[in-house]
Amino acid sequence: MARVLLRCRTVVWWSMASVILKRGREDSLVRRHPWVFSGAIARIDGSPTSGETVEVLTSDGVVCGRGAYSPRSEITVRIWTFDPDEQVDETFFRARLARAIGARQPPQNEWGMAARRLVYAESDGLPGLIVDRYADYVVCQFLAAGAEYWKTTIVALLQDLAPNKGLYERSDVAVRDKEGLPKRSGVLAGEAPPDLLEIQEGPHRFLVDVKAGHKTGFYLDQRDNRPRAAEYMREAEVLDGFAYTGGFSVAALSAGAAHATVLDSSAGALALARRNLDLNGIDPSRSHTEEADAFTLLRQYRDRNRRFDAIVLDPPKFAGSGRSVERACRGYKDINLLACKLLRSGGVLVTFSCSQHVSADLFQKTIAYAALDAGREVQIIHWLRQASDHPTALHFPEAEYLKGLICRVW
Ligand code: SAH
Repeated sequence: MARVLLRCRTVVWWSMASVILKRGREDSLVRRHPWVFSGAIARIDGSPTSGETVEVLTSDGVVCGRGAYSPRSEITVRIWTFDPDEQVDETFFRARLARAIGARQPPQNEWGMAARRLVYAESDGLPGLIVDRYADYVVCQFLAAGAEYWKTTIVALLQDLAPNKGLYERSDVAVRDKEGLPKRSGVLAGEAPPDLLEIQEGPHRFLVDVKAGHKTGFYLDQRDNRPRAAEYMREAEVLDGFAYTGGFSVAALSAGAAHATVLDSSAGALALARRNLDLNGIDPSRSHTEEADAFTLLRQYRDRNRRFDAIVLDPPKFAGSGRSVERACRGYKDINLLACKLLRSGGVLVTFSCSQHVSADLFQKTIAYAALDAGREVQIIHWLRQASDHPTALHFPEAEYLKGLICRVW
């Protein structure tokens, strides 16, 4: 038995390239953080191609795990498994995908028109892979060399584990450049999704453009926060800044808000927001859209003494890297300061940051400075996070990016 094992190991060692770490650089891997940065690598034995599975070893030859090699990225290896004996093959991917998908329960045990994130990359032990379900369709992003390398296997497995009418790829994102991968979108299996497909979020319906919309089409991460925020907006005059396709406006108006100003800089997003309001039976007199830059329009509102009872601020990512955190916080402070000034006493501010590099603590401090400069007293009523289908693996805090506050502004 021992001899057979030894022979198996020898075969594996021959066929798999090895990445040898510099002395003492295995600490993060011991803590199960799945990234190996180029600066931690002493040498590579063998000539792995992009995405190929390599074995990662300490300087003393102890195997830390097996991962995907990415020659162009600063993250040279993303670990698939910390078990030195686990093969990275179809069986491996089936088990990981089944675990992730099985943990996402469909509402009332019936997917119907529901939309959920089924696989959230590193947090689900599948670095670089995003899989979202929108009703009968499944949308994927292959964001790293390893996920790309195993694409054919993953697609075949998803047909079995997440049955769908069509599997669509949205790997048209900038992070692919860092991996040396071209941007790509299109049908991977089955039929092409319609230009707009309908999903259900709680009691609400939304039209989603999975082929060209933001992310994979919709901000699934805000699912739990929309009704939570809407609770505080009964009879309110609402400003939905950065509204995209109207997620928060639909929730607020359905929960009894008096009126919503639906603000976004994108005409296309607003056109879809209007359709979503109609789809939910909201009388057109209860909302109007504003195609504008939020920073400019909120200043104009301030100058005109315009007031609101509730304001939602859900801007795009202001900090793309650790280097831009300070600039990002100036942006958050500016827009939140303006919002504080526009709110009537007792009004509600629902404010978010989706910048992973801005911590929840820093974001809260930034809002505190905005309140101070606006001369308003502000209480936090709720701390908000990304929805539960975007879990954060404890060894991978980078997965946590969305943070928000519901505040009462006096
Ligand atoms: N709250 C939305 C998601 C917002 S995404 C939802 O629940 O679905 C961020 C939005 O901000 C995008 O629609 C983008 O078009 C818009 N945006 C980006 N910069 C902007 C600016 N300066 N002013 C107004 N809108 C902006």
